[in-house]
Amino acid sequence: MINKLVIVGVGLIGGSLAMALRQAGAVREVVGVGRSRENLETARQLGIIDRIETGLEAAAHEADVIVLAVPVAAMLPTIKELAPHLSPGTIVTDVGSTKRDVIGYAQQYLPNHISRFIPGHPIAGAEKSGAAAAFTDLFQGRNVVVTPLPENDAEAVTRISVMWQTCGAIVNTMPALRHDEIFAAVSHLPHLLSFALVEDIAFRANAKELFSYAAGGFRDFTRIAGSHPEMWRDICLANRDVLIREVDTYQAQLDRLRGMLEQGDGKSLEEVFGHARTARAEWLAGKQDS
Ligand code: NAP
Repeated sequence: MINKLVIVGVGLIGGSLAMALRQAGAVREVVGVGRSRENLETARQLGIIDRIETGLEAAAHEADVIVLAVPVAAMLPTIKELAPHLSPGTIVTDVGSTKRDVIGYAQQYLPNHISRFIPGHPIAGAEKSGAAAAFTDLFQGRNVVVTPLPENDAEAVTRISVMWQTCGAIVNTMPALRHDEIFAAVSHLPHLLSFALVEDIAFRANAKELFSYAAGGFRDFTRIAGSHPEMWRDICLANRDVLIREVDTYQAQLDRLRGMLEQGDGKSLEEVFGHARTARAEWLAGKQDS
């Protein structure tokens, strides 16, 4: 049971976490802190939070768990502001999509509290944002990656893992760099590609005509270009060293395919498409089994 839970950034992720914990009867009081009053009022009206605090000092007072659920670039000012107000027993965790940057801020600004700063990332989301987009089942059956630090209290890591399991999630642990490398490949690169394709089409002279014929394939490939620009700007920048490597690897793959087109090499193209189709089918089947 969490007595006082503070959600900083009551959006899709923070709001859904509060809702799931409430539904499970695992929290007594949820306090929301954020940027716009309007979003916090929505969260209160929807019953996601019990009350709004305007500042982190009051919110942090005697908190059991503080969840940082703001965009990753807002983690630094949030951690800095929070630092002087933490009670010794409070566990701080985050839900940021990148881990090395957020961990760096915590190591720099929470050195005396680092044993109770537990980095995390729920692998669940949607293209919608804000408290109104939050829903109770978001984490049901989904993975949550926790990237514990050597300095962490084992008891605090367990409490955060149990918190996510209470929301129906499956908790995995791994080092932060491994996390950032994996998600650069399977999440950050696909988002970059999706935004890039829509941008490319949208600014052509005949964009209107092109969009009028775009159908299911275009819709599927570009679904994630409907994601929050601010959030994805922050993620791409925070993980840019690893993401640039992924862009280069993908570029090499495109160059390879371009060469096959130039050569009219249908056999090689078909081989690539065949491998990709099989790999995708196996991935999907594995997802259904798990
Ligand atoms: P969201 O729905 O936009 O929620 C973010 C919340 O943070 C909003 O309520 C926003 O307030 C508030 N906020 C923004 N800047 C702030 C600031 N400077 N100070 C205080 N509050 C601020 O975004 P989300 O999808 O929940 O993402 C939140 C975090 O989860 C991000 O770190 C993201 O990387 C991570 N994450 C997202 C996904 C996903 O697919 N969406 C998945 C896993 C993890 P306003 O409403 O007033 O703007």
